[in-house]
Amino acid sequence: MAGELGPLIAELDALTARLEAARPFNIGFPGAIDFDYAPLAPLFAHQLLNNVGDPDIDGIAANHTKAMEREVVSFVADLLRAPADDRWGYVTTGASEGTLYALHLARSLYPGAVIYHSEAAHASVAKAIELLGMPQVVVCADEHGELDYDDLASQIACRRDRPAVVVANIGTTLTEAVDDVRRISAVLDGLAVYRRFVHADAALSGIPLALLDPSQRPGFDFADGADSLIVSGHKFIGSPMPCGVVVVKASHRSRLAPSLAYTGSPDVTITGLRSGHAALVLWYALRRFGIEGLRTRAEQCRELAAYTHGRLVGIGWSAHRHEHAFTVVLKTPPAPVTDRWVLASHGEASHIVCMPGITRKQIDAFVPDLRAAICATPPTATTNNNRRSGLLRRTRPTAPPVAMTGDTR
Ligand SMILES: *Cc1c(COP(=O)(O)O)cnc(C)c1O
Repeated sequence: MAGELGPLIAELDALTARLEAARPFNIGFPGAIDFDYAPLAPLFAHQLLNNVGDPDIDGIAANHTKAMEREVVSFVADLLRAPADDRWGYVTTGASEGTLYALHLARSLYPGAVIYHSEAAHASVAKAIELLGMPQVVVCADEHGELDYDDLASQIACRRDRPAVVVANIGTTLTEAVDDVRRISAVLDGLAVYRRFVHADAALSGIPLALLDPSQRPGFDFADGADSLIVSGHKFIGSPMPCGVVVVKASHRSRLAPSLAYTGSPDVTITGLRSGHAALVLWYALRRFGIEGLRTRAEQCRELAAYTHGRLVGIGWSAHRHEHAFTVVLKTPPAPVTDRWVLASHGEASHIVCMPGITRKQIDAFVPDLRAAICATPPTATTNNNRRSGLLRRTRPTAPPVAMTGDTR
């Protein structure tokens, strides 16, 4: 029967119970869970919030949150040191859309450009490249996931006649490795490649790294040479729906000619209509936390990650953590552990991501589980090999990493 509330409530309760039961074991995905959005609930009851077209141009209808969206973009752009007089951005459906937007912009600036990214790049990068039909070169990454700058230089040197678009990973998905945008810029300078565009994929780590003391901050943002940058909204900030923020140098957009739509706001984003609720929740979180609150959260995450790393090494389990990272990479535990805990395993390596809301109590429950499983599993002949070959070595792609695909020349 349509319309019966009782059975629906029962199903919603069952969903809530399932989510709550799973929550303590979910330590492998980078979504913050420490923030209460309940004060926004009334705005979810009846209100369509539709941010149509350009966030800078309100348009005809009133049911939008573009003023908040502009505040979010400017907050993020300030953190990422985008030039005050040369910035533009919007709230996306996620970092993936932001990367698609940025690479589309790069292609419009430099038709025929080749995209370079490391083998540790997120799948959304390859997906965007495939959608755009651009030629790509996959560059080697080192054992812990950072771009190999010498390989980048030699790959670009082979194609110096073509514009170069380089995607820098600012916190890779598996190890949270950070590619150095200053070094990438230096490689391009050294080869005199000036028709270039650097996109920084900072989905998880952009905001936390921006909050570091300037003396410790890695080179990853606009001031270091990026032309565009994306962060996710549901990772460090912890929005309850996937979303993100893309920021680009506004001057790059001059060649894109948007059409003015009947909505009164030019259709300049990937999806056209955008969620006004996403902008609203990001605005609310950024205002509530403030810079100091965000910084404290980031520091607490790093402390917990350092603690987790120490505990794992303490029980003799192979683990690695990059400086500043929330992510602790560990040799994939035996099946009884991975059956119970969500660790995002990639073959030999798994990771725990110490996001805001993950507690020491959870780590203190995980480590004894792991230790019990190790004691119950007899050591195998491969144990030493694993150690020697480096636990984080990604499986090499079977195709040579220099293969060009999708060349539309
Ligand atoms: C999570 C992630 C993405 C995808 O971000 P979404 O906001 O989920 O679309 C892209 N790149 C990296 C490095 C990521 O960690």
